[in-house]
Amino acid sequence: MNVSDSERVATSLAGKGYEITRDEKAADVVLINTCSVREKAEQKLYSRVGRIRHSDGPKPVVGVLGCVAQLEGETLFKKIEGIDFVLGTKAVGRISQAIEHSLENGAGYSDLGEREPDYDWNVADAQRHSPYVAFVPIIEGCNKFCTYCIVPFSRGREVSLTASTIIRNVLELRRQGVKEIHLIGQNVNSYRPLSDAGLEGFAGATPFAKLLRAVAGTGIERIKFNTSFPRDFHPDIVDAIEENENLCNWVHLPVQSGSDKVLRAMRRGHTIQSYFKKIDRLKSSTRDISLSTDIIVGFPGETDSDFLDSVKMVEYCGFDSAYIFKYSPRPGTPAYEMNDDIAPETKAERFLALESVFRKRQTEVLQRYRSSTLQVLAEKSSAKSATDLTGHSTCHKVVNFKGSKELLGNVVNVSIFDIKSNSLFGELC
Ligand code: SF4
Repeated sequence: MNVSDSERVATSLAGKGYEITRDEKAADVVLINTCSVREKAEQKLYSRVGRIRHSDGPKPVVGVLGCVAQLEGETLFKKIEGIDFVLGTKAVGRISQAIEHSLENGAGYSDLGEREPDYDWNVADAQRHSPYVAFVPIIEGCNKFCTYCIVPFSRGREVSLTASTIIRNVLELRRQGVKEIHLIGQNVNSYRPLSDAGLEGFAGATPFAKLLRAVAGTGIERIKFNTSFPRDFHPDIVDAIEENENLCNWVHLPVQSGSDKVLRAMRRGHTIQSYFKKIDRLKSSTRDISLSTDIIVGFPGETDSDFLDSVKMVEYCGFDSAYIFKYSPRPGTPAYEMNDDIAPETKAERFLALESVFRKRQTEVLQRYRSSTLQVLAEKSSAKSATDLTGHSTCHKVVNFKGSKELLGNVVNVSIFDIKSNSLFGELC
């Protein structure tokens, strides 16, 4: 979501005549888009601003955007010296006003206001992270209030874009030659547009599955979506994937824990049995769907037995990939008020133990790709070799293979001969 926000900020500024540079030293204005999901966001911001302020040469205007800006607001001016303006997560459409105000009046401007009703969600060709892959926001914010998470406070409540806006956006991207789109949001499958005059039939139990079918109908080559919320993951989503070849075979479904007691304390809204039911449906699909997840170890009150439930869950699910985190309290969340009673050494031990179980299981499940042929979007030259290309498969694996640059932007068939935990290696068929 933050990459997508940055792309739209760059689009809006370029449209107003600003020149975008990645060279911090050459910039008149430096924008720092912050994320507070990971630990130490503020310390990182502090050192980044300090580095800019203490570098030689003219001092640029420094603006802070994103979640830390939204949560801290004007207090950032007191906490971190050298910030000129602060722009909240929904105020990014007014970036040029913030810059102009700072250039004219100096430091101290902040805007934490709401998004404009006519906010432009499009990203210009030149500002996308890839010419072939584009992010398409479909919902922002979150209503779930998991006890460890700051997102509902930094991004506000769920607001879905209308299906007609999304479809128009996808059709335009297709026209521009984009091959793969990622429908994005904190919880894409909680998609529920309030009204949609442009397209009928988005009410009912499974509006997200309906949206998937409508987006598939645009004929864009590949569609991925991220992130899904387990409680709202309806089997109709799998039906939609099975019906449409251009809906890719990858689902990211964060489970967070294998213990019902911990899931309750996290206020996740799902039990481990209900999660397994969804995994069973995904695994029984006619498509070979690759599964990824997020897991937290060492949440307050997690006993050895709770942790063992997470180990069993990892063994059962057979994820293609998993992001495992040690719990750390985030100020402002309900879990921050809980007793963080798991010792750092225990968290570290559980992290290593779970990672080792996951790696072992992952080695088994990834073997199914050996000697298989995957459809890979050739996205860029490999950083390691001028004769190699790299891209993603429909199952969202990074695949490296020998190939010439003329193939960039094409979907090619690659036969897999080697498997590493984070990437696959193959040769063109
Ligand atoms: S679903 Fe939970 S973890 Fe995900 S963004 Fe919402 S509150 Fe955070």
